[in-house]
Amino acid sequence: DNARSKDSGLYYFDLQEGAKHSRRLSVTHRLEQAIEAEELSLFYQPKLNLLANHATGCESLARWFSDDEVISPGEFIPLAEQSGLILPLGSWILQTACAQALAFQQQGISMKMAVNISARQFTQPGFSQQVQDVLDAKGLAPQSLELEITESMIMENEAFGIKVLHQLKEIGVSLAIDDFGTGYSSLAYLKQFPVNKLKIDQSFVRRMHQDSVDQAIVLSLCQLSRNLRMEVVAEGVEELEQLDLLRTYQCDEIQGYWYSKPLSSADFSDFMLSRQQAVN
Ligand code: C2E
Ligand code: MG
Ligand code: MG
Ligand code: MG
Repeated sequence: DNARSKDSGLYYFDLQEGAKHSRRLSVTHRLEQAIEAEELSLFYQPKLNLLANHATGCESLARWFSDDEVISPGEFIPLAEQSGLILPLGSWILQTACAQALAFQQQGISMKMAVNISARQFTQPGFSQQVQDVLDAKGLAPQSLELEITESMIMENEAFGIKVLHQLKEIGVSLAIDDFGTGYSSLAYLKQFPVNKLKIDQSFVRRMHQDSVDQAIVLSLCQLSRNLRMEVVAEGVEELEQLDLLRTYQCDEIQGYWYSKPLSSADFSDFMLSRQQAVN
């Protein structure tokens, strides 16, 4: 058997592909049930504003604690996207994040909530109206909501994408480009995007304290943002050396395990309230 799988690469490949395929099917099926049963939750990762020296916002991140395992968004978000489940899931995420932002504010935590938007949500007809409806229903100020989108989502159909961005801008929500530097980064298009913020992808930040090329990229992105009058956030900051460099680059915000991991809503409240007291 061993010999057969060695000289027949195809046989081995098929087994692996078969296993991956059935995992995808089973996770997609369980996800559909989990969405209906509201078994997913959101965690909130504080972002440190370097000028203010405290957190002024957070990013909401979907979490799925399934019966016997934790399934990461890196696995289930793409499956939700492929199966179309992202539309009900994304709608639940937007509503939950907006309701939670208001609840945090009512606890005395002044903050902006960032929500990740997937390609299929963004290109769905009436998306900006959906955002407006959720803000109205929850009673959240549009200035308290930030939507994270990626360059490729806009570039899939740039005329349409730019139109949606303008509609969202009109509503008054902030717009951030996530994973910046990994997509189709044409500067000619960037200047047409009415976005407020660039989030530098963690792949550049991870080794920036050890790698002069990554350092040069991060510095350039900080300068680019400033020149375009956009804010800039560095993702995936885990080390003090990274933070020190980012301060000298006048980066506006940092997000990463150095400051805090993503937290449950109760832990996020505690984190924010205890730090506000420390400042006062
Ligand atoms: P993202 O939007 O770029 O989110 C940042 C990811 O980096 C999160 O992973 C976060 O937990 C992780 N992270 C934060 N700080 C650090 C750090 O210091 N070191 C390292 N190694 N990682 C850090 P997560 O939660 O696993 O999410 C992965 C991706 O899944 C997200 O990337 C986003 O693209 C997608 N995602 C997560 N939640 C949602 C959601 O509610 N809706 C949509 N559409 N996508 C989501
Ligand atoms: Mg994000
Ligand atoms: Mg990112
Ligand atoms: Mg991402």
